[in-house]
Amino acid sequence: MLATLFDKTKPGARAIGFPKGKIHPSQKIPSHLLRKTPPGLPEVTELEVVRHFTKLSQLNYSVDTNFYPLGSCTMKYNPKACFRLAFHGAFSERHPLLPAWAIQGTLKALKDFENALLEITGMDALTLAPAAGAHAELAGLLVTRAYFQNRGEIPQRKKIIIPDSAHGTNPASAALAGFEVVTIKSNARGRVNIEELKKHLNETAAMVMITLPNTLGLFEDEISEIARLAHQAGVQMYMDGANMNALMGIAKPGNLGFDVMHLNLHKTFSVPHGGGGPGAGVLLVKRHLDDFLPVPRIIEKNGQLQIEEAHPKSIGRIRSFHGSTANLLWSAAYVALLGKEGVLEASKGAILNANYLRVLLKEAGLTPFSDEPCMHEAVFTIDPKKLNGVRTLDIAKRLLDFKFYAPTIYFPLIVPEAIMVEPTETETPETLEEFASAVKTILQEARTTPETVKTAPHTLPVKRIDDVTAARNPVISWQPSRDQ
Ligand SMILES: *Cc1c(COP(=O)(O)O)cnc(C)c1O
Repeated sequence: MLATLFDKTKPGARAIGFPKGKIHPSQKIPSHLLRKTPPGLPEVTELEVVRHFTKLSQLNYSVDTNFYPLGSCTMKYNPKACFRLAFHGAFSERHPLLPAWAIQGTLKALKDFENALLEITGMDALTLAPAAGAHAELAGLLVTRAYFQNRGEIPQRKKIIIPDSAHGTNPASAALAGFEVVTIKSNARGRVNIEELKKHLNETAAMVMITLPNTLGLFEDEISEIARLAHQAGVQMYMDGANMNALMGIAKPGNLGFDVMHLNLHKTFSVPHGGGGPGAGVLLVKRHLDDFLPVPRIIEKNGQLQIEEAHPKSIGRIRSFHGSTANLLWSAAYVALLGKEGVLEASKGAILNANYLRVLLKEAGLTPFSDEPCMHEAVFTIDPKKLNGVRTLDIAKRLLDFKFYAPTIYFPLIVPEAIMVEPTETETPETLEEFASAVKTILQEARTTPETVKTAPHTLPVKRIDDVTAARNPVISWQPSRDQ
């Protein structure tokens, strides 16, 4: 039908509602550019559409269907009760442009959540605006820049010191915020090399960015000394707290010497994520940085919660409306649901599960980076020479045949053939045992029939892809267009 409406060859054809006697813009298109055949729009029944999308949804892999051991990603169960609360009409049917007096309930839920996060982290002030962890990092760096600018220390303080085990977003955010990145090597224990760090702590450094626990799943046990040395040199301390799953309720970053930090609500605080979104970050600071936080801020005035847009020293707006409100409410519900004890239990469970899996995987034949107890995750390596050339990528692909999502691989960069797993507190010991047993079987295959592992996956709709060709010539439609 659409084809006839816009087909110039059919006299009298015009778009619905287009005024009579006017030339429709499509009639100005040169005839050699006009299509000769009707577009291949699918002619389908409602039932076919339902089946199509249901089948697509069944191809999805999610925490709701199987174990998702992605390290550094905290793919924990997303309680359905949080979904119901976050999407309750009392919140979801409020237009984002409504004035503060008309959304007191939403603002109260967000304010209570802010207070809970301040309690969990030991920080003094925060913004819920950032859309993701990396976005919060950028905001935190801009806040720090504004702080130093205010003190007349910019452009002198231009360096951000980052360990080589850091998540790639750390140096990327620092560069985006206009700083220079100084990378420092980790020591043999997988911690920040303090001697190395000291060389860079001077009046040209603005901040030390540290992931805690670090990406090897280890606690930086010299963190207080690092913070002392940094502050002595007038340098700020940033904590990448994307994965707070081992610290919630146990240690407060505010007490460990950090001035700025971020949380990923879509990791530690149970907002579902995957496939690039959705997410929400939270940026938290100590008192001396409060004035520079982004707007809007939720403040209490005359017994009402208000949205404060003007804040003279603020770095300004970084996000539309109030941030990812549905995600924020989801996490607010999660924290309220857990309560003080629940938050602590979640962390303890995450640590216990990670250590159980660490031991199981070691027994299965992987080599842990460290034999120390880990925090929320553990990193392993393999030696392809001892496995007929089977590499970490092959093991990850073969795990898919065992109905497990692949772990994080080749990260952190400082561990060759790295395999990083994070079970989270929401998995049962039985699931972890099944996973370890699959890894054991795959390592046996690598020794006896390595081709099975090297050509995996064998049971999925898409087999081993050629990553290089896929990156160079991506086919991004599920079916070639009929016009092609
Ligand atoms: C996930 C993660 C980030 C980035 O968070 P996004 O929400 O993906 O931008 C930063 N640091 C660490 C340690 C992470 O695990």
